Amino acid sequence: MDIDLARAWVQAIAVAVGRHKDHLTQLDSAIGDADHGTNLDRGFTAAAAAVSDLTPDTVGAVLTKTGTTLISSIGGASGPLYGGAFRALGKALDTSLADPLAFAEALAAGLASIQKLGTAAPGDKTMIDAYAPALAAFEEQARQGTDFAGAAAAAADAAEEGMRATTPLQARKGRASYLGARSIGHQDPGATSTALIFRALADTTAKP
Ligand code: ADP
Ligand code: MG
Repeated sequence: MDIDLARAWVQAIAVAVGRHKDHLTQLDSAIGDADHGTNLDRGFTAAAAAVSDLTPDTVGAVLTKTGTTLISSIGGASGPLYGGAFRALGKALDTSLADPLAFAEALAAGLASIQKLGTAAPGDKTMIDAYAPALAAFEEQARQGTDFAGAAAAAADAAEEGMRATTPLQARKGRASYLGARSIGHQDPGATSTALIFRALADTTAKP
């Protein structure tokens, strides 16, 4: 990943989130407070604008700017969680060109940030249930020497599988956990937006 690709990724996330805004909000209305789509739309629209104004020296600068913008523009729990993750990615990518192994390490730092702040574990029905399998898939492909696009495609597939697997789970973190067993049978909004973020990475890096 280079600087242009990092910027294109953030812009692709903004487009995808905009397109799926109503769906994300619908999912959040079933087990939350119906703001996940508008939260993320506001945050990534602001982030895309912020990074297009930027003349960064590193991939990390693009992702750090994205993170700080998300934190300052999203009110819900997902703002600090995603914002912190992008800032962790940015901190790990102090380079103008990141290979898949370096990017896998950065993704791991992103997950660590989400877990440190939110204290959720896999299976708690959160964004982690899409992120953790996506990271594992990306890492595995990177170790095998797969190129960036291939690793990102595997990560996106794993994120979507993890997203679908949140439906039968009972939420143990965040607003949805207040519903107890009534949270069962609904796909988690944050896992759904995480899958969009990894699909945007795959789509962006797949472009020739
Ligand atoms: P809020 O819950 O404040 O309204 P959002 O609706 O934007 O915030 O985001 C909700 C999503 O955030 C959930 O679907 C879940 O995936 C994620 N989430 C909530 N709490 C946590 C947590 N402690 N750790 C990880 N993810 C969380
Ligand atoms: Mg919400």
